[in-house]
Amino acid sequence: ESTRQQRLRTMPATIPRERQTSLPLVAIIGRPNVGKSTVFNRLTGRYKGGAIVDDEPGITRDRSYGRGSWNGYNFRVVDTGGLLLDDLEGDPFRSLIRDQCVQAMSEADVILLVTDGQAGLHPQDVALAEYLRKALPRRPTPARSNETKPIPLYVCVNKCESPTKGITQAQEFWSLGFGEPHPVSGIQGTGVGDVLDKVVTHIPWVPDVEVEDDEEVNIAIIGRPNVGKSSLLNRLLGEQRVIVSDVPGTTRDAIDVELERQGRVYRLVDTAGIRRRSRVLAGQDSEFYMVNRAERAIERSDVCLLLIDVVQGIADQDLKLAEKIVEAGKACLVLCNKWDAVDKDDKTYDKAVDYIRTVLYPLRWSAIEFISAKTGQRVARILDMVDEAVEQHRRRIPTSLLNEVLRETVGINPPPVVGGRQAKLYYIHQASTRPPTFIVFCNQLSSGQALLSDSYKRYLDRKFREALGFKGTPIRWIFREKR
Ligand code: GDP
Ligand code: GDP
Repeated sequence: ESTRQQRLRTMPATIPRERQTSLPLVAIIGRPNVGKSTVFNRLTGRYKGGAIVDDEPGITRDRSYGRGSWNGYNFRVVDTGGLLLDDLEGDPFRSLIRDQCVQAMSEADVILLVTDGQAGLHPQDVALAEYLRKALPRRPTPARSNETKPIPLYVCVNKCESPTKGITQAQEFWSLGFGEPHPVSGIQGTGVGDVLDKVVTHIPWVPDVEVEDDEEVNIAIIGRPNVGKSSLLNRLLGEQRVIVSDVPGTTRDAIDVELERQGRVYRLVDTAGIRRRSRVLAGQDSEFYMVNRAERAIERSDVCLLLIDVVQGIADQDLKLAEKIVEAGKACLVLCNKWDAVDKDDKTYDKAVDYIRTVLYPLRWSAIEFISAKTGQRVARILDMVDEAVEQHRRRIPTSLLNEVLRETVGINPPPVVGGRQAKLYYIHQASTRPPTFIVFCNQLSSGQALLSDSYKRYLDRKFREALGFKGTPIRWIFREKR
C-alpha cells in the first residue's frame, strides 16, 4: 500500500510544464516593437507563419508565459513585454518597474535582451541596458555559496535575416556592454538556435515529463436560473485580469472570457448565455433554452462548475445537468451557493454534504464546496480546485499499476456467478484521458456487455478511486472481449 503511494507520488506529473515552477525560466525583455513576441513564439513553438503576431505596436498580449525545449532541455519563457503594459515613452525606469515584470525577471535564470537590427541602436535600448546592469538579479556562484554573480544576459539583435547585412547590423550592439550581440530573425528562425545553445549551458537539465499540450482550461458555469451564476461570474472576473473574445464559428452571442493566473489561461465559456438568462421568459421555453444552452457549454468545457442553490435544495433540473456532465465526460465541481443565507449550527455542514452526496449521486466523485457569490466566501479557492480536477481529468496511469489494482480488486471480491457463468477480468489499460478511460478485457460479453452487474461496475470504480485518486473527474469504463 505505502509503496504504491510512493510510486504515485514519483510518477510524472501531467500539469503543464510552465506551471511547474521548478523549470528554469528564460525572460525576454526589450523595448516595444523589436519583435519580442515573435522571438517568444519561436522559443515556445507558437510561431505559425506570422498568424499570431500583431502588427500594431503596444498591444496588450494575453499570453505571457510559454514553454520551450532545446536538445532535451526544458524551460519556461516569459515575454515581459506582455507584462509591460505601457511602452517606454517618458521615463523608461518608472514604467519599467512594473511589479509583474520585475517579478518575472527576478525569477529568471537567463535573460534575452531583444533589439531591432534594422532600426539600429535606439536610446531606449541604451536606457534598458543601463537599467539591467544595475537591476540584473544575482545568484550564488555554484562553487562559492557566499558569492553572487549576475544572471547571464544575451543580446539578441532581431530582424537580422539578411545573410549579407545581418552580421554588420548586429555589431552596433556591442556598445550595450553585454558582450557579443547575436544576430537573429524571429520571423525566419535564423540565429535562434545559436542563442539557445548558449542558454542551455546555464540551466539544469530537466527531463521530459508527460504533459498534455493544450494547457488552457475551459470552464462552464452551469446551474438553473437564479442559483447565482452571473453573480459568481462577476466575482471571478472581479479578481482577475480579463480578456473578452468572440468565439470563432459560433453565433456571435457566445462570448468567452479569459482569465490568466500564474501563466495558465482559464476560459469561461459562453458568458453571454449566463447573462442573457435574466431576460428569458419563465416556463417551458426557458427550461428548454436553459438545458440546450447549458449542454453546449458543457460540451465545450473541460471543467463544469455546477452551482446548487443551498436554500432551495436540489431539483430535477440539477440532476439532469449532473447527468449531462457525466455523459459528456467532463470534470466537475459542485458549488453550493448562497451559503451566507443558511442558518447554520454545528451539524449543518455535514448534513448538507450527506444530502448532496445522496441526491446528486452521479457526481459522487466531485469535490463539494460551500460558497457565497454574494459575499465572496471561498470564491478565491475555486480556481485551485479547478486545477486539481483538471489534473485528474488529464491523468494517465501506467498499465502495470492498473493491472495490479485490478488483480487486488478482483481478488478481494470476484465477480459473482450469474446463471452458472462468471465474468473473468483479464487485464486493463488506459485508452485515453479527458476523462480517464479504461478498457477491461474479459471473457465473455452478453449483448455487448460484460457479465457484470452495475453494482460490480460501481465496485470497480470505487476501488480504483480508492487506490488511484481521480477526484473531480468521471471515469469511463469499457469492457471488451479478449480474443
Ligand atoms: P514586440 O512588441 O517587441 O513584441 O514586437 P512584435 O513581435 O510584435 O514585432 C513587431 C514587428 O516587428 C512586427 O511587425 C513583426 O512582424 C516585426 N518582426 C518581428 N520579428 C521580425 C524579424 O525577425 N524580421 C523582421 N523583418 N520583422 C520582424
Ligand atoms: P443566475 O440566474 O444563476 O445568473 O443567478 P444570479 O446571479 O442572477 O442571482 C440570482 C439571485 O440570487 C440574485 O438576486 C442574487 O443577488 C442572488 N444571489 C446570488 N448569489 C447569492 C449568494 O451567494 N447569496 C445570496 N444570499 N444571494 C445570492
